[in-house]
Amino acid sequence: MPYTAVFPGLALVVGLILGSFYNVCIHRTLTGESVYNPPRSKCPHCGHFLSWWENIPLLSYALLLGRCRSCREKISWRYPLVEFLGAASAFGLGLSYGPDPAWAVAMVFTGLAIVVGFIALARQPMPKRPLWIALPGALVLGPLVMGLPLTSSLAGAGLGVGILGIVKLLVLRLNSAKNFGIGEILLAGMSGALCGIEGLPIGLVSALLIQLCAAGFMFLQKKKEPNKLKILLELTGPALCAGLVLALIFGPMAASVNVLTSMQIPIFH
Ligand SMILES: [Zn+2]
Repeated sequence: MPYTAVFPGLALVVGLILGSFYNVCIHRTLTGESVYNPPRSKCPHCGHFLSWWENIPLLSYALLLGRCRSCREKISWRYPLVEFLGAASAFGLGLSYGPDPAWAVAMVFTGLAIVVGFIALARQPMPKRPLWIALPGALVLGPLVMGLPLTSSLAGAGLGVGILGIVKLLVLRLNSAKNFGIGEILLAGMSGALCGIEGLPIGLVSALLIQLCAAGFMFLQKKKEPNKLKILLELTGPALCAGLVLALIFGPMAASVNVLTSMQIPIFH
């Protein structure tokens, strides 16, 4: 079996383990603890240190039936969801890039998107400091490792910053938009720098679809929610994070379809 056929499976296992680490980063950032200290994970309710078998991604949640072994408090749904997303995205990126440095770079930015997205879901405004570092990083790695022309990376970053900047100007006067802004703009710029001007629309359209689905869901709910607009605006960051991951996974596939259409194969006409 060629190595490239095995790679997505290996990527999935790496993604599961990283998913566990993303959970630590999300939880400890929200509680203000150090990511590295204490080195062992513990129950957020009773402080019980987890043994190795209580710390196996996804499997432990199922074995423990979603409750802490010591205090029987419910374990947040966020833990298995983040582990699942870590594994699924690593598998998808493994299929798209194969064993290539571009996979490693896509994994780093996917991990950042998952961590920052879930922090923003729990607490606004979204964290800006890692994005200030990631945006120039994406401008270097987009052309250097992801194979983008420098112009595509620069134009993508400019378009992302421009579009979200215009959205910010439009919602500036709204009272519910006080948390909306710099983080979302940096995130869109980073997505454009990494996926290029061709890949960025996948991320932006996906983010918009996620927000439209959320708006539809809120509209259908019987309970009256007075802060609908505020909730939707606060969802922009997490939706952009999801969009970035989808653009990284599906961008190369979309590019290969473009190559096929440019070769004028009859099936695409
Ligand atoms: Zn506990």
